[in-house]
Amino acid sequence: MDDVVEFCSDLIKYESVTPNDNGIIEYIKIFLDNVGFQTKILEFANDNYCIKNLFAKYVQDKGKSLGFLGHSDVVPAGEGWNTSPFVPVIKNDYLIGRGVADMKGGIAAFCCAVSEFIKLGFKGEIRFFITGDEEIGSYQGTRSLLKWASQNKELPIDCLIGEPSSKKEIGDRIYIGHRGSINVNVCAIGKQGHVAYPENYNNALMRICSFISEMKNYSWKYNDKRYPKTNLEPTLLYVGNYAENIVPGRCSANINVRFGADYTLEKLEQIFFNKAKQYDLHLDFRRSGEAYCCDNIELINLLSNSICKITNIKPEISTAGGTSDGRYMINYCNVIEFGLQDITIHQPNEKIKINDLQILKDIYFQFLKDYFNA
Ligand SMILES: [Zn+2]
Repeated sequence: MDDVVEFCSDLIKYESVTPNDNGIIEYIKIFLDNVGFQTKILEFANDNYCIKNLFAKYVQDKGKSLGFLGHSDVVPAGEGWNTSPFVPVIKNDYLIGRGVADMKGGIAAFCCAVSEFIKLGFKGEIRFFITGDEEIGSYQGTRSLLKWASQNKELPIDCLIGEPSSKKEIGDRIYIGHRGSINVNVCAIGKQGHVAYPENYNNALMRICSFISEMKNYSWKYNDKRYPKTNLEPTLLYVGNYAENIVPGRCSANINVRFGADYTLEKLEQIFFNKAKQYDLHLDFRRSGEAYCCDNIELINLLSNSICKITNIKPEISTAGGTSDGRYMINYCNVIEFGLQDITIHQPNEKIKINDLQILKDIYFQFLKDYFNA
């Protein structure tokens, strides 16, 4: 079954709301078994759940080695759907369903492209890494699977991630990395008091606001132009005080920072820490990932040219957007990211143009041909 729309529609029907698998990994496994891959389902567990992941490989003599990384889990449907989220619907040339863009469409396109490509005959190695918990941190998915692959010498040299990357039209953007990300929780303890007696209280809210304002206006250096500028955004301010005549004695806030390679997580924590001392604030950090960027120009050009051959578009080479599991993969091999448009991901009525799915499959097919020189 090589029809990419049909395959993608089948994937949508599996209610693989993270971290539940509901049979989707087994379905992809059977497809790749039939194509001729050696496949293996690997389960990794924590105290709460067990994640199913799929590893598959096809080795045809010694040659170049390409991996494909994708996730079969999706975010919950949420409200506001005009159709049933796990029933694939075709309407006005769009395919609608939860996960169609993020990223069942990418998986379907690469599977179908590979299935056709193998029939051509080639020298080299193709590996699939399909994981089940990308939407909740990838602990038992990508991170564990890559550790396993490293121990078992099953890592590729280069890896394509099929996450949505296109902006206005399919083929107009490739991600070669992403900014780093860190979440900072700030907490201030002051002294509650009557608003009319400033000499008797210590306003925790005011201290946090001043701190955020100073950090927001911090002159972040910007030397490494491969990344967008470093940006800090407060995302939550909590006081829990509803009385107008009380000055709060306690306040907390969440801040997220996206940063380029001018900074590391450690450096950022130090900057925050030093500034927080002046305001007597307590900080908690949750590290999301360092900034990373693929520096293999040959690989980037190869994918760019494959895209151009199919679409006549020269893609923008970008490190914008939210971070991906590329941040784990980059520790093992070269990573590039290319897929469908990302406009409707995680939204109600997630959709893609049917034609784009076909084009994506054609691009992946072209890329496989160019990559393996087949
Ligand atoms: Zn995704």
